[in-house]
Amino acid sequence: MTKQIHTDVMVVGAGLVGLAAAIALALQNKHVVLVSDKPPAESKSALNSDSWDERVYALTPATEAWLKALGVWDFVDENRINPIDSMHIWGAESDLVLSAADANVAKLGLIIENQQLMNALWQKLQALGVTVVTDVRCTNIEYTLSEVVLNAEPDLQIKAKLIVAADGLYSWVRQQANIATDVKKYHQVAVVANFLAENSHHNEAKQWFNAHDVLALLPLPNRHVSMVWSVSTEKAAQLLALSNEGLCEQVQAQSLGLLGELKQIGQTRSAPLNQQTSLQLISERIVLVGDAAHQIHPMAGQGVNLGFRDVMKLAQLTTNLHAMRDIGERTFLRQYERARKADMISMNSLTSGLDYLFATEQAVLKKLTNWGLQQIARQPRLKKLLIQQAVY
Ligand SMILES: Cc1cc2nc3c(=O)[nH]c(=O)nc-3n(C[C@H](O)[C@H](O)[C@H](O)COP(=O)(O)OP(=O)(O)OC[C@H]3O[C@@H](n4cnc5c(N)ncnc54)[C@H](O)[C@@H]3O)c2cc1C
Repeated sequence: MTKQIHTDVMVVGAGLVGLAAAIALALQNKHVVLVSDKPPAESKSALNSDSWDERVYALTPATEAWLKALGVWDFVDENRINPIDSMHIWGAESDLVLSAADANVAKLGLIIENQQLMNALWQKLQALGVTVVTDVRCTNIEYTLSEVVLNAEPDLQIKAKLIVAADGLYSWVRQQANIATDVKKYHQVAVVANFLAENSHHNEAKQWFNAHDVLALLPLPNRHVSMVWSVSTEKAAQLLALSNEGLCEQVQAQSLGLLGELKQIGQTRSAPLNQQTSLQLISERIVLVGDAAHQIHPMAGQGVNLGFRDVMKLAQLTTNLHAMRDIGERTFLRQYERARKADMISMNSLTSGLDYLFATEQAVLKKLTNWGLQQIARQPRLKKLLIQQAVY
């Protein structure tokens, strides 16, 4: 017999953004059901002090403050996160340092492992007693006069006022809603790995920009660094074929030996990089959040922050919604779409603009890019403005 569940909101997808959405809405006393295609246990494997997750996130102070307000931070192990006190960017002929002190802020952000953030979100979700259905395969979406109905296997039907689609880049919900996407292929791959460095990173995030080649070394506790190296598909294949020692040599050379000798910890992983933007963020009784709505280049380290900001805005709008009003009503969903589009567009422009500027072969633009870095370096007020944008 088909199991039936009735709820206010169903969140489809238990990635970081879906988990946060379920928590934020449950805290408003909405009845929430989280639907996952995976078992929850997968995201709860133990972390130990000798290994570091290859996938890490640079969270902005605004994201951290929000996760604290949600109570998620109570489950984070502070010994496994690292503050970012400064950011050092190298272009071909010049460099720029942006520090927290320049803008009188406590820090520019922090680095946290995917697994650790995931664990904290799951724990908070369970503490709230949110209903979770795992290991399901969604089959179709249909509508009644006042609800959206999700049918899934094995034998499950969930009726809700609203679906929050947090099912990632290849969002099934987005496809069901026939929402098209705009895709820009960078023909780049992010190669990620962790290292133990000989020299201290001094809580500095370092980035080297070359033509379609951005190496980022992000600070982790105890002289560890996490690498995200965005390179062409061909170069990624070469890097992935290297031994651990070979990769260390390449990274040392590209990072000008600033961190001294590097020793690789764990495996080398990779992910293709594209920019994908959903042409609509809403459909009938559906809102898109996180990578389901947008994927951006990781060079700005903003992907998950952008996804969390979707949830912040949605939660801000729902908290102001009159108790008698329908949370899936189109006029209400339009407010969300309008509010989020500007942020998405500015992030897309920032990442594609940077990729273009640092890759340009045009002498004038090349000079302008280097001149720009030097000018920013000399102008405290401009630096402060840039930092204030980055910590949002
Ligand atoms: C190499 C790399 C480095 C990055 N570094 C950073 C960084 O430093 N800072 C940052 O902010 N961002 C970073 N990002 C981006 C960030 O990883 C993503 O933006 C973020 O993980 C998106 O989270 P999400 O929850 O929206 O989607 P996902 O993490 O993709 O989660 C989607 C979930 O939905 C589930 N799902 C899918 N289909 C279904 C279905 N039909 N039914 C039920 N469940 C389903 C999936 O199993 C998954 O659990 C990086 C990305 C890459 C590739």
